[in-house]
Amino acid sequence: MTQAGDMLALVVASVTPLTPAIKAFVLRGANGAPLPAFTPGAHLGVQVMQPNGHAGQRAYSLARPHGDADSYEIAVLHEPQGAGGSAWMHGLKEGAMLSAHAPRNDFALHRGEAAPLLVAGGIGITPLLCMARALAAEGRAFEFVYATRSAQATAYLREVRALGGTLVHDGGDPSRGLDLRALLSAPAPGRTCTSAARAAWCRPWSTRPARSAGPMRTCTSNSLPARSSRPATPPSRCAPCAPARR
Ligand SMILES: Cc1cc2nc3c(=O)[nH]c(=O)nc-3n(C[C@H](O)[C@H](O)[C@H](O)COP(=O)(O)OP(=O)(O)OC[C@H]3O[C@@H](n4cnc5c(N)ncnc54)[C@H](O)[C@@H]3O)c2cc1C
Repeated sequence: MTQAGDMLALVVASVTPLTPAIKAFVLRGANGAPLPAFTPGAHLGVQVMQPNGHAGQRAYSLARPHGDADSYEIAVLHEPQGAGGSAWMHGLKEGAMLSAHAPRNDFALHRGEAAPLLVAGGIGITPLLCMARALAAEGRAFEFVYATRSAQATAYLREVRALGGTLVHDGGDPSRGLDLRALLSAPAPGRTCTSAARAAWCRPWSTRPARSAGPMRTCTSNSLPARSSRPATPPSRCAPCAPARR
């Protein structure tokens, strides 16, 4: 499996479209050997071929915790205006060979006593989903908020819902987006807040107070209620946002 240094030889085991612009890839060791373990928040450094003929490296966060399944899962957003790395990834088919640096974690989940608040935006869902899956498997409480443009553009929508996450869609209008001020407004000692969005890879949002896990909902505007006003059980619909639905 290991080529040189910490380079891994990987084979694409499956390619799954998650949205029109996002594909998930399951990667296995090329010779069937076990893959190195990692902690949630880690990413692979994948070698890509750029249109200029030069090899490059792109980071892709691991979306599923290291477990019994000896594989890595990543999801890649096609960036049409990018340098070609994501386009090259989107051209990969099942059986293709890849070279990648072993997982490295610059975005580790803080494991304190309080329930973490995980805030994801767009393709920034990948490391947060890994964290949420790990926390759920451990039976630990957490809060999970995921902001995207629309349901159609949302990767891992069902998985986030199944994990009790709250979805917020702004319909392409930032003024209808997630109201972070409201989200973070209710103080409760010890909450760890972790955020990743497309434009802010690996930039922890802040460390703010925590509360107990919030309800699962899908919102279509920025009117996510302040945490202190959230009901203890999930409402049948997101009342503050319902009038704004299109
Ligand atoms: C730690 C980490 C984890 C990541 N995890 C993921 C992940 O899980 N999934 C994922 O899809 N991506 C992830 N990324 C981003 C990924 O590494 C690539 O940047 C992405 O796939 C785009 O690659 P690209 O070569 O197509 O475009 P890039 O050239 O890297 O371009 C990226 C963006 O920058 C813009 N851009 C590029 N050049 C210019 C320029 N000259 N002027 C203005 N704008 C420009 C492009 O429009 C594009 O939107 C991660 C990045 C980091 C650092």
